[in-house]
Amino acid sequence: MKPTHIEHIGIAVRNLEESISFYENVLGLKCYAVEEVKDQKVKTAFFMVGQTKIELLESTEPEGPIGKFIEKKGEGLHHIAFAMEDVGEALKEAESNDVRLIDKMPRKGAEGLSIGFLHPKSTNGVLMEFCGK
Ligand code: ZN
Repeated sequence: MKPTHIEHIGIAVRNLEESISFYENVLGLKCYAVEEVKDQKVKTAFFMVGQTKIELLESTEPEGPIGKFIEKKGEGLHHIAFAMEDVGEALKEAESNDVRLIDKMPRKGAEGLSIGFLHPKSTNGVLMEFCGK
């Protein structure tokens, strides 16, 4: 299975409000959604750039995945999400190619989409997400 496009790029930020203002005032993009994903202990903000979204991620708890990431590496590029027609199938296919998975089964992400992460150890240090319906 091949991705149809880059669905979004996830960026870890310390302060969602301040970061939204950069994207709106400097890049002229409009934040069209702010959503809390309890499961991942994050608050997200979305911008559309062509077919691709920018997803800003602020941790709601220091021990959440984004909180730990910022603590270790600071703010910055967190993950790249590929749009997949069938996330479950795409994960299975990756696994059958000996790719280490973080999620063996799709789970629910922001915007009600199915998501699944591949382990950065298998993807040149880039946290990769499959994302779809
Ligand atoms: Zn994502």
